[in-house]
Amino acid sequence: MKVAIVGAGWAGLAAAVRATQAGHEVTVFETAAMPGGRARSDDDSAAAIDNGQHILLGGYARTLALMRDVGVDLERALLRLPLAMTYPDGSGFALSPRGHRLAAAAAALRSARGFSGLDKASALAMAIGWQWRRFRCAPALTVDALLRTAPTARVRQRLIEPLCVAALNTPSSQASAAVFLAVMRDSLFGTRDAADLLLPQRPLAQLLPLPAVEWLRAHGASVHLRRRVAAIERIATRWRVVSGVDAEAAFDQVVLATTATEAARLTRDLAPAWAATADALAHEPIVTVTLTAPQRTWPAPMLALESDDDRHPAQFAFKLGRQPADRDRVTLVVSAAGSWLARGSEVVAAAALAQYRAVFGLGDEVELTSVRADRRATFRCTAGVVRPPRAILPGLQAAADYVAGPYPATLEAAVLAGEAAVAALADDARV
Ligand SMILES: Cc1cc2nc3c(=O)[nH]c(=O)nc-3n(C[C@H](O)[C@H](O)[C@H](O)COP(=O)(O)OP(=O)(O)OC[C@H]3O[C@@H](n4cnc5c(N)ncnc54)[C@H](O)[C@@H]3O)c2cc1C
Repeated sequence: MKVAIVGAGWAGLAAAVRATQAGHEVTVFETAAMPGGRARSDDDSAAAIDNGQHILLGGYARTLALMRDVGVDLERALLRLPLAMTYPDGSGFALSPRGHRLAAAAAALRSARGFSGLDKASALAMAIGWQWRRFRCAPALTVDALLRTAPTARVRQRLIEPLCVAALNTPSSQASAAVFLAVMRDSLFGTRDAADLLLPQRPLAQLLPLPAVEWLRAHGASVHLRRRVAAIERIATRWRVVSGVDAEAAFDQVVLATTATEAARLTRDLAPAWAATADALAHEPIVTVTLTAPQRTWPAPMLALESDDDRHPAQFAFKLGRQPADRDRVTLVVSAAGSWLARGSEVVAAAALAQYRAVFGLGDEVELTSVRADRRATFRCTAGVVRPPRAILPGLQAAADYVAGPYPATLEAAVLAGEAAVAALADDARV
């Protein structure tokens, strides 16, 4: 079949690689000059700046398999560490890479620093309760409501809220407990290495986007960068993809791997109900602040930070990749940044800078390098959120992180969606 993939983010690239492997004739259309979508780098150099700090988890099985299949050396590209929520003073929680998951969580809690006996007992009771209920709950429940009776406030603030905001990019007061529990089930309590943190050692472009484009071209697929799709039209049983210039070719199937807003625009006349559901999704920003600072020894390359709504916006700090000879290059991440960003990105940057100085007792020697705000970083994963399904019409599917599924907007959700669309191509062809 002739298959058009609209969008070369991680979902579109996953769909394109898997469709090519399945023997289809694949054409990819991408608006931007660089592939990768929201997980892209500004250019193809080794020092390129990313559209925000990304971390992967050991449980991202499909993403890791895809990276391997297009020739990425995972050992070099990613730094693998057991999951840890380490604060700058060394307190926190570190999951042992060995043993039954609940036993490992119990052991980690026992040795956690900065928590009382009551905190630890309440966290363990919470984890046993989740397992007992098979990580299920009512779809309309928020994470705060899930935790109303347990655990203690300190466990909520220093453990659950940072995990929630990192995984769902949504504050715990609004976040979907069902999605949060699905993430916990498949990471913290999943297979042995599922919760491992995989920290990129290279620009994002080199983790998948550029190797995937190279692989696609080497395997006969066409990849058109800087080629925005303006419209999709039905002609009898086929599809015309209108992208200007010469490529108004007809396709048997189309996979829409764009953002929700663009997918809604492209389907407004073809499938109005589907388009309305995609258009109704709310989005949440992430702000990434980079700075250089005098060298300090950190207890881990990724630190959790105490954050609040008034003074301290950043939830995590990273010291990753090649570091300058005599300074630290630090990335601070502000997730679920909607209320902060309403005050302006300069205000967020100044507050994050002050937060870092306060944490390490530093002053003017810490310098701001850049601030980057992605206002539509992910869909807001609220309790009861309605996500549009993968199938739009026979021969027309959506593949992206917002499509209905068990997980929040992540790289793994995007790759799973791309692969699911390809698995359904044959079914669609029979309709
Ligand atoms: C700052 C930030 C930090 C994040 N951190 C993490 C993290 O730590 N871990 C994690 O797992 N996830 C993280 N995410 C989420 C992750 O980046 C996304 O879930 C994922 O990249 C979504 O991929 P996608 O392919 O579904 O969509 P997108 O990346 O949005 O790709 C859509 C593509 O379609 C293209 N396009 C749109 N319209 C058209 C058109 N008309 N014609 C042609 N092309 C079009 C776009 O240019 C884009 O390339 C983060 C996101 C951001 C922004």
